[in-house]
Amino acid sequence: MNRQPAEVLVIAAHPDDAEFGAAGTIAQWVRQGKNVAYVVCTSGDKGTSDPNIKPEELVKIREKEQRAAAKVLGVREVVFLRFPDQGLEDTPEFRKELVRWIRIFKPETVVAPDPYRRYLWHRDHRITGQVVLDAVFPYARDHLAYPDLLKEGLQPHKVKEVLLWAAEEPNYFTDITGTFDIKIAALRCHKSQVGADVPFDVEEWVRERAETAAKGQKFKLAEAFYRLEIPW
Ligand SMILES: [Zn+2]
Repeated sequence: MNRQPAEVLVIAAHPDDAEFGAAGTIAQWVRQGKNVAYVVCTSGDKGTSDPNIKPEELVKIREKEQRAAAKVLGVREVVFLRFPDQGLEDTPEFRKELVRWIRIFKPETVVAPDPYRRYLWHRDHRITGQVVLDAVFPYARDHLAYPDLLKEGLQPHKVKEVLLWAAEEPNYFTDITGTFDIKIAALRCHKSQVGADVPFDVEEWVRERAETAAKGQKFKLAEAFYRLEIPW
């Protein structure tokens, strides 16, 4: 697979997660000239309250929305793994798939949902975060982990840092004051999720969260993450 490496790889459970969690920061990275790629683990085929939409139609709608949102942000590539929505499990198959894409894109930074949010937290988010951390360390790094991937030419890769969105105790805050409008524009691409029939105003909701995240910082609007460096 001849893909251009991406300095940043964003791994999300569903279409729209990356935009809610990190779009302002992603837009900043793109402005700095970094290549950003997405891996979206499910295509969100259960994300509707409309009883007339079939799951396979929803997959098409949501993948199209996700591609549009990525385009707004300048994300170069979106890979859909098409695991079932509400069906992600911590399996060897899922872990290997994430290792595969980490080795293909060779990112310095991986961005994903924090698996350690307590109580109400979408099971797919929790499992994605956990499997991403396992895939980053040690599986993507160790050449004996997957001899078959090695045979395919996928060399071991060391990720330098992981940023986790939706962290209960964030330790890293990015200034998104200058990219907030792009974040909202990207979120609005997810019409099936934030369209007219949704009972809240997405801009107001996201702005409040960004202001709260920026409390105590020198800037007005922030995204908050738990950041860890991988020392080995
Ligand atoms: Zn989600």
